[in-house]
Amino acid sequence: MSTIFEKIISKEIPAEILYEDENTLAFLDANPCSEGHTLVIPKKAVSNLIEADEETVSNLFKTVKRVTKTLAESDLDPVGFSIGINHGEEAGQSINHLHVHIIPRYKGDGDGTIRSMHSIVSNPPTNDLNTVFNKIIK
Ligand code: AMP
Repeated sequence: MSTIFEKIISKEIPAEILYEDENTLAFLDANPCSEGHTLVIPKKAVSNLIEADEETVSNLFKTVKRVTKTLAESDLDPVGFSIGINHGEEAGQSINHLHVHIIPRYKGDGDGTIRSMHSIVSNPPTNDLNTVFNKIIK
């Protein structure tokens, strides 16, 4: 598996790198949803959270926390964040290398409505919660 993110890690292509350590890299998204939209990736080439080992996940989320704090304390002055992963093609994952989006939020950026994670999908289950629970926990 080789993606454009490997080329950013190896510095073959440029990026606005906000943070880097032995295991992770954080850089500005080239097509930002908001000012300061950042991607955090593990340097290890894994497709998604399930493929990643515990240490990779732990290092990744330590950097997510660190960079969120950096953005929060920056002159961008966001009022909140939407933080998430598009896991799988059908969920919008376009690059096959695990990445966490940190999207700074600004007052009124939802056109007057609050656009939370809940507004991404509108597909409520027809089954009751217990039926759903039993499908998950067999
Ligand atoms: P996703 O749709 O979750 O796979 O997100 C992939 C993200 O990578 C998109 O938001 C793109 O804008 C971003 N992206 C693609 N190429 C680059 C690049 N060369 N530098 C920075 N961000 C990129």
